[in-house]
Amino acid sequence: MGFIPDEVIETVRQRSDILYVISRYVQLKKKGKSYTGLCPFHDDRTPSFTVTPGKQIFHCFGCNVGGDVFKFLMLKENLTFSEAVKTLAEQAGIVLPADDNPAARKRDAKRERLKKANNLAKDFFINNLQHQEAAAAKHYLQGRGLSPEVLEGFQIGFALPGWQSLLDYLGKKGCRQQDLVEAGLAVSGETGRCYDRFRNRIMFPIWDAAGRIVGFGGRVLDDTLPKYLNSPETPFFSKGRTLYGLYQARQSIREKNCVIVVEGYMDVITAHQYGITNTVASLGTALTVEHGRLLLNHSRNVIFAYDADAAGVAATIRGLDILQELGCEVSVVSIPDGKDPDDFLRRYGVEPWEELIRRAASLIEYKLQYAAGKRTIKTVTEKLEVMRQVFPDLAAKGGVEKEEGLKKIARTLNLSWDTVAGELKRFEENLSKKWIYPDKIAKNIHTIIRKEKKMDAREKSESILLRLVLDDPSLGETILAEIGEIPFKNDNYQRIFMNCLELYKSPGYRPEGLFNILDNDDQNLLSKLLTLDIPGENPVNIMKCYIASIKRCIRQERREGILEEIKELEKSGNNMLYNDLLRELVYLKGIDEAEKAGNSERTVELMVDCKKFFNINNGDHRGEGRGNI
Ligand SMILES: [Zn+2]
Repeated sequence: MGFIPDEVIETVRQRSDILYVISRYVQLKKKGKSYTGLCPFHDDRTPSFTVTPGKQIFHCFGCNVGGDVFKFLMLKENLTFSEAVKTLAEQAGIVLPADDNPAARKRDAKRERLKKANNLAKDFFINNLQHQEAAAAKHYLQGRGLSPEVLEGFQIGFALPGWQSLLDYLGKKGCRQQDLVEAGLAVSGETGRCYDRFRNRIMFPIWDAAGRIVGFGGRVLDDTLPKYLNSPETPFFSKGRTLYGLYQARQSIREKNCVIVVEGYMDVITAHQYGITNTVASLGTALTVEHGRLLLNHSRNVIFAYDADAAGVAATIRGLDILQELGCEVSVVSIPDGKDPDDFLRRYGVEPWEELIRRAASLIEYKLQYAAGKRTIKTVTEKLEVMRQVFPDLAAKGGVEKEEGLKKIARTLNLSWDTVAGELKRFEENLSKKWIYPDKIAKNIHTIIRKEKKMDAREKSESILLRLVLDDPSLGETILAEIGEIPFKNDNYQRIFMNCLELYKSPGYRPEGLFNILDNDDQNLLSKLLTLDIPGENPVNIMKCYIASIKRCIRQERREGILEEIKELEKSGNNMLYNDLLRELVYLKGIDEAEKAGNSERTVELMVDCKKFFNINNGDHRGEGRGNI
């Protein structure tokens, strides 16, 4: 993980009790070997957040986030990994080795330089507004009626028209050209010459949630394209993790317990100018889970006010689904006449705007309006499709809201209430079937099921097998020998498995050590696996049982593959191969039957034969070659 030595990270982990750390944020209740509470990362109504002190991990069965104590702090406090380690080390009274690692020192120094460059650039842009070349920009801003407080609050500035104004200025301040390129302030041309990225644009600094300037947006004054230009993605700045204006709006969002999300810089600034200070903007990108988590830190009531440009609607709906899945209460404002919030506010003022906000449609209503607006819902398929889109929202609702929703759907689709209610019931039944955890949890996390594809028999067996290996990596050898070099079909499992075996080679193996090695998705998966109980007492027996199950799945897949191949060969008439395939099919069937009959001797015998014949003789047509039979 870089510059803090692994041993030190382990010491910090062991001295930072995860239960103690998380208890400061979440009320936890003991439940068996673990503790549960309301998840701080999504709007959790029943405790789906679990802390397992024995393993020093947390996992949420609602939003599927999980990891170790460092990950928790990173998410909760918006820290980098090394910042989280430092924080916990301090609290545990562990002195971290001074940054004697040159690479780390270099990286820290660079971060500081980039931060400094962003701040200097911001000051430069603000000062430029006094420049005579900024006359048009000033005129534009005055025309918007922006007060000095708002201009100052959002630190709006101007980039001069020249190609090197900022470069020259920052150069004099001691900034290196390479740093400015990395910060996204300058662009390196094909000849290697650098020039300013932002020229002749009104400049909007972009802050992260902690108030650090991470990037800029620039707006042209004429018809040059693009109208808005953002900083590129940098080590600091990612559009998918940033909401413009959140830093300025956060107090107000908390006070009003509601956030309004708009599309553009000017929408946010005008809204603040009119006193609607709980407004933020997504930066021209679809909403992400990270956006949702940022919003949930302040309020779960989210109102969308995008302009009704039809091209964006589908993307918008996807974004809204993401937020709703995280537990936000989402509603949508339709602004009349295709205006954006900026236009609307300046033309009609605050009261009509607030009226629009009050009349915001729920997500179900919005989806129905949208579907009805397309005027194509005539056929049964189209009606079913609309229902499929709104049922996940409806299934999560309580009695009265569900009833209201059903009525609306029935009306919009011109169906009877009974028909719609029947379809919903069927939908809900399917949901509970797909869920592998107890019903009690399943009811509360319908949304996750949609995200997580259904686990098939093989994946289920793989998850248990991997769970066993995590506790005792020495089992890995048997699994490799029995199933093959790549025992896990699920790529994430396979990656965790290989990393686990690798980590096991170093002394003092603990499964939690894997959190340092794995990426975010795999970390979530790991914490989930570690939270699960092993089904039974004897790991070796359980392993054997699930290896057999995986082999059965592989045989089944192979059989399906053979039938496909045979179909192909029947067209081409290649007899030689055809007979081999048939023979293999007979073997595979024989193995299954022998196994079913409990004749393990015969099963093994057939397996060995089959392997001898077909792995060696027909290696060329064993498509996957993924494992043994
Ligand atoms: Zn959660």
